[in-house]
Amino acid sequence: MANNIQAIRGMHDVLPEQAPLWQYAEHIIRDVLGAYGYSEIRLPIVEKTELFKRSIGEVTDIVEKEMYTFEDRNGDSLTLRPEGTAGCLRACLEHGLLHNQVHRLWYYGPMYRHERPQKGRYRQFFQLGVEAYGMAGPDIDVELILMIDRLWKKLGIRDKVRLQLNSLGTIAERALYRETLVSYFQGHLDQLDEDSLRRLATNPLRILDTKNPAMKEVVANAPELMAYLGDDSRNHFNMLTATLDDLGISYELNSRLVRGLDYYGKTVFEWVTDELGAQGTVCAGGRYDSLIEQLGGKANHAVGFAMGMERLLALVEMLDTVPVARPVDVYMIRVGEKAEKEGLRFAETIREEIPGLKLQVNCGGGSFKSQFKKADKIGAEYAIILGDDEVSRGEVGIKSLRHEQEQQTLSQPQAIAFFKEHLQSR
Ligand code: ATP
Ligand code: MG
Repeated sequence: MANNIQAIRGMHDVLPEQAPLWQYAEHIIRDVLGAYGYSEIRLPIVEKTELFKRSIGEVTDIVEKEMYTFEDRNGDSLTLRPEGTAGCLRACLEHGLLHNQVHRLWYYGPMYRHERPQKGRYRQFFQLGVEAYGMAGPDIDVELILMIDRLWKKLGIRDKVRLQLNSLGTIAERALYRETLVSYFQGHLDQLDEDSLRRLATNPLRILDTKNPAMKEVVANAPELMAYLGDDSRNHFNMLTATLDDLGISYELNSRLVRGLDYYGKTVFEWVTDELGAQGTVCAGGRYDSLIEQLGGKANHAVGFAMGMERLLALVEMLDTVPVARPVDVYMIRVGEKAEKEGLRFAETIREEIPGLKLQVNCGGGSFKSQFKKADKIGAEYAIILGDDEVSRGEVGIKSLRHEQEQQTLSQPQAIAFFKEHLQSR
């Protein structure tokens, strides 16, 4: 067929065979977030463009070239959210949630950036976002890191990721550092690429974040921001690292870690992996107290992180065993008019009696043989077999599809007892 409509480049379907992996990870994520008392917040996917310009900053990759921005029918400029921090803070300010309160929040869903699609980099991708408001830290910074570490452990990928830490200090401290950095780079203009030359005037710290291998040396020799931190920033960072040492959480100091977004200050961190090629950052976050005032709120505290789900799942998929639930436990085979009717009724009784059991009833008829084939293909553990003979005797056949066992004939209550014993505990 010509002219089939296809999905947008960089925006992927999650097919039914991939969905269990997503559900598995999502389930563990919810459990871990719950274990620390975090609450879910659900936010719109579209926001006013202004929100992202004001929060993320005009001279960032996201705002300069990655946003999906459009005019709606009223002529308002709207944008598909490229990240969740701005929208989450917007919602909390709008609903007065930050007034003399402390909040620990999470959200989950798709984000949109017009980037060049490649492995681990898409135009629609999913993020788990976590934001904690009203706490000056560094204890809450530690809590976030502990929570992420627990998640790695639960998912079995702790040995695949490394924590990198840096402090960006305050806006004033960064301004001081910025001058030194600019004059350093001005002495090495011949080693800067086009992007970096442009950033030298707009956002020089971002040069440190370059992914261009040719600039490795000039960046490695650049002055370090740490030396420009004041007492408060320095104490904050020292307390953070001392607590992590106490707790046995290992980390690397990375003075080149500046994060892409303008709103960070003090603590910033990334969890990186060597197993996904160039797209090595799985989770990134930090403190962004100043964004609250920037969006019109009263001075307050905020720290958070975002985790890229596709990159996370790519790591989980590398494990030998990912315990993924099968979609169907029991498949019901019905042959004959009476069996079709009685089968539907009995299936409802089973669902009533055994919560959690996944029972699929054959629809669309077919011989015993063809229905058995379908049961096998879907991966069911057992088949229940109903022919008109079984129905007239109030019985059903039960056959294991995974083990060599004779088909048994049981009464309907016996069949329910059998499934309760063999399947319910899982
Ligand atoms: P990168 O340096 O890889 O572009 P970033 O600094 O733009 O990342 P953040 O805005 O901090 O990323 O987003 C947090 C996380 O979301 C990233 O660490 C990554 O795991 C994931 N992420 C970001 N952009 C994409 C994308 N286009 N496709 C898939 N995952 C992404
Ligand atoms: Mg990016």
